[in-house]
Amino acid sequence: MERRSVVIVGAGPGGLTAAMILAQKGFDVTVFEKNAKPGGRNGCLEIDGYKFDIGPTFLMMKFVLDDLFKQVGRNVDDYLPSTRLAPMYRLMFDDISLDVYDHLHHDKMKEQMTRLFPTDAPGLDRFMKREQGRFDKILSCLTTPYDTVASMMGWKILKAMPFMSLGKSLFQVLGEYFPSQSARVAFTFQSKYLGMAPWRCPGFYAMIPFVEHRYGIFHTRGGLSEISEAMAKVAGELGASFRYGTPVERLLLDGRKVTGVRLADGTEVKADVVVVNADFAYAATKLVPPGALRRWSAKALGKKRFSLSTFMLYLGVKKTYDLPHHTIVFAKDYIKNINDIEAGIWPEGNASFYVRNASINDPTLAPSGCSALYVLMPAPNKRAALDWPAMQARLRRYCLDQMKSRLGMSDIEENIVVERCFTPDTWQDDFNVYIGATFNLGHNLGQMLYWRPHNDFEELENMYLVGGGTHPGSGLPTIYESGRISAGMICERYGIEGIPPAPKDAG
Ligand SMILES: Cc1cc2nc3c(=O)[nH]c(=O)nc-3n(C[C@H](O)[C@H](O)[C@H](O)COP(=O)(O)OP(=O)(O)OC[C@H]3O[C@@H](n4cnc5c(N)ncnc54)[C@H](O)[C@@H]3O)c2cc1C
Repeated sequence: MERRSVVIVGAGPGGLTAAMILAQKGFDVTVFEKNAKPGGRNGCLEIDGYKFDIGPTFLMMKFVLDDLFKQVGRNVDDYLPSTRLAPMYRLMFDDISLDVYDHLHHDKMKEQMTRLFPTDAPGLDRFMKREQGRFDKILSCLTTPYDTVASMMGWKILKAMPFMSLGKSLFQVLGEYFPSQSARVAFTFQSKYLGMAPWRCPGFYAMIPFVEHRYGIFHTRGGLSEISEAMAKVAGELGASFRYGTPVERLLLDGRKVTGVRLADGTEVKADVVVVNADFAYAATKLVPPGALRRWSAKALGKKRFSLSTFMLYLGVKKTYDLPHHTIVFAKDYIKNINDIEAGIWPEGNASFYVRNASINDPTLAPSGCSALYVLMPAPNKRAALDWPAMQARLRRYCLDQMKSRLGMSDIEENIVVERCFTPDTWQDDFNVYIGATFNLGHNLGQMLYWRPHNDFEELENMYLVGGGTHPGSGLPTIYESGRISAGMICERYGIEGIPPAPKDAG
């Protein structure tokens, strides 16, 4: 067989998945990555012996990653030692706090639910049972491409339709199990992983809290950025070549056909197929020549919904804290907090935040006796006219004050030895994320499945999309799926069998 060439723009989780599969299937794969190392938002910051994951800290549905490695002839555990977290996380409301355990520790979870939310506690078993049914039907919809109207009429979708809770929000769907507000928030805040409010997030995303409770949350030793490192290593072993520090400036077009890429240094690289992993809306507005797109033109994108953004602090501190691996602290008025952010207003004095203290389980992230802390506050994306450079110091102050008052970290400030801060500007300017919307194009129904940018990009030939901006959407397991789906379509085009979707874990 003639060896077909594939150029991949970006070595984030989506591009790395495609690189692993296509290299293993015999394609001549070259990955151009603007940064000096792989990972993108799933990369890391290393500063003076402290190591911080930049973005993802929750690895869910690990069986998808395990299977990807298996399909290319590798055992994930040889590359990525990992731990299933118990508890998964601590949730702190104004008056109560709850350590959330997955189903392997059902008794602990049930005991806390009974104590803290007596009227909601019986809902836990119903939630696990009924949501398993929904997950079984919906998962298969997320592992298939939707590139034609006919594909939306397929049996998988039709069978899943009754389980989609169309017209209902996640908040409404889970309210059927958990009527009291705090319990409901405890099982719906996960819509924030998509950068959406639970009351605007489609009900079928009830699968996200379900997969946490059913399949657990994992930490990989050295942080989740190690996943990207391992994926790049495997892709390299399989023959893919990586050109780091090499930004792509433009896609080359011959009519409607993408023929390759032009690098920032002016070099033109031709390829049979181009896979774009850079954030879709960024690529559509910056890498595709102006005027080439209609459905996804800059004007059309200007009318689409995008996710929230985040304000981040990465703090290296010279002590350890008795704080769980993941702690989520809800604002006093959580509903107003999220509504404000979605309306583009900074929720002054009423912000939720998340602290990740992975050093409690992983000594490799900081010098002995020290900790690498990661703090995230949901924030409006850059459609809001907020002056982030002017706000940065104030938001940092707020975070530190909240860590003191709500988490008892009274001496945090005097122990900080290294520090970095990201705002929505950073995501946009340094990570090439359109309007700093960290979780990509919104996940409302009108922008899902057939209505999301297609894996085999509908507006240009020879261009495939991977990553959070295409189908099935944002989040590591779904991004791996986007890579598997697009690589599968490329394989099929050349008469090669792709890899099947991961079988569900029994764990
Ligand atoms: C703060 C934060 C927290 C998150 N937490 C979680 C979590 O806990 N769990 C979870 O599952 N998901 C999480 N996510 C969501 C998602 O999993 C990650 O954002 C993921 O890294 C997105 O992968 P991607 O492949 O779509 O894009 P990216 O990771 O952005 O990769 C795109 C790559 O393209 C490169 N690139 C861009 N432009 C060019 C160019 N012109 N030329 C060459 N290369 C280019 C970039 O440098 C990057 O390496 C989080 C995201 C963020 C931002």
